[in-house]
Amino acid sequence: MKFLFLIAFIHLLPQCTGKPLRWDDCHQHTFKEIKREIAGYSDIAKAIINLAVYGNAQNRSYERLARFVDTIGPRLSGSKNLEMAIKYMFSVLQDDGLENVHLEPVKVPHWERGEESAMMLAPRNHSIVILGLGSSVATPPEGITAEVLVVTSFDELQKRAQDAKGKIVVYNQPFISYKETVKYRLLGAAEAGKVGAVASLIRSIASFSVNSPHTGWQQYQSDVPKIPTACISVEDAEMMARMSSRGTKIVVTLKMGAKTYPDTGSFNTVAEIVGSKYPEQVVLVSGHLDSWDVGQGAMDDGGGAFISWEALSLIKDLVLLTVNEKLLFLLLGLRPKRTLRLVLWTAEEPGGVGAEQYYQLHKDNISNFDIVMESDSGTFMPMGLAFTGSDKVRAILKEIMQLLQPINVTNIYENGSETDTEYWVRDGVPGASLRDDISKYFWFHHSQGDTMTVQDPSQMNLCAAVWTVVSYVIADMEEMLPR
Ligand SMILES: [Zn+2]
Repeated sequence: MKFLFLIAFIHLLPQCTGKPLRWDDCHQHTFKEIKREIAGYSDIAKAIINLAVYGNAQNRSYERLARFVDTIGPRLSGSKNLEMAIKYMFSVLQDDGLENVHLEPVKVPHWERGEESAMMLAPRNHSIVILGLGSSVATPPEGITAEVLVVTSFDELQKRAQDAKGKIVVYNQPFISYKETVKYRLLGAAEAGKVGAVASLIRSIASFSVNSPHTGWQQYQSDVPKIPTACISVEDAEMMARMSSRGTKIVVTLKMGAKTYPDTGSFNTVAEIVGSKYPEQVVLVSGHLDSWDVGQGAMDDGGGAFISWEALSLIKDLVLLTVNEKLLFLLLGLRPKRTLRLVLWTAEEPGGVGAEQYYQLHKDNISNFDIVMESDSGTFMPMGLAFTGSDKVRAILKEIMQLLQPINVTNIYENGSETDTEYWVRDGVPGASLRDDISKYFWFHHSQGDTMTVQDPSQMNLCAAVWTVVSYVIADMEEMLPR
């Protein structure tokens, strides 16, 4: 193991300014040389992997997350729990010895579901499990009792628009993919409101169900009557579709006590390892701290937030020991050339609200943002890195991913922008997100099932290793990624 000499050697290379460079600005940094520079990180990458997966930090992100979600619980935008969560993180990030731990104030939506229930009265009495959708209005206290119209698509709703007036529209759309199907949750109430429906119940956007409703934010349109809206389980949506196809009349009473309060104060939570050479330049790693108000928000997005914290912890805690023929080297803690910044976003679930205000506040400094990374699609078995940006950066990331050969996570995928990072990615900053096995992600997403029980410590270790190697190497390379 001679990596310290290699590090020393890299430091002695003729250097450019560290400013964002075009490909040919500096003759020392052809792609061949960047490739060689990256290969020089192989021992550090192995040391990070060893620490995260087999060493003292094994299971740390999982255990920290468990303590956090068991203590705080779910953390909806605007809630007391989210406020407690931010205070908790502010304190533990300081205790961890990270630098510049601070809170950046933002205004966030405050909606509460209140008491809610749905009861089928005809053709038989049956209690329908529901979760009101975020930003929904309430029903009158006595509820709304109406006949149901079941449709499977917006097209069918249009065709049967005459039948919808005065009814509760039930959407029983099939799950194709989250991206494709989520429009029914987002726009279902507005579309039903347009044709005169009095409420809408939406089949949960879930790929599997044990009679579980899956909530989420929804959007009214300003020129359309606002009708109460909730999600129902796949099972109840399918049953009502079967009943209605037999010509059976269905009557439901829906009661919702939802309430929207004025926007409230919240914070994005920030911590750093300040760069040794280009401290003004930033590699941003992130996840969101808020969650839905059901389950524990362990998967969405506790896992992403806590592997992002883990990346800074691992870099800070890495002990490198190397023996040359005569000398023994001990290196405690790595400090990359650029600043590694952890941001725990607030109010992602209402639509990237904290991240949008962060962008407005910091966009003047955009040329110093090297890459923006967010993990918000689970921390299950990692498969690689998703990326949005130029082919040149993609080629560099491909080389960096080779450093993860020891855990066999070397793939690069498309679409590396997440809700909280897309503002930067739209403006040309390279964006990356963690790609993992999401085959069970939408079993639990936004439901009571999103608890610590779905998280796996060994998978989180691997995710943390990927996240750390990628962010560290980008933060420490001599040049910023090309734009
Ligand atoms: Zn999320």
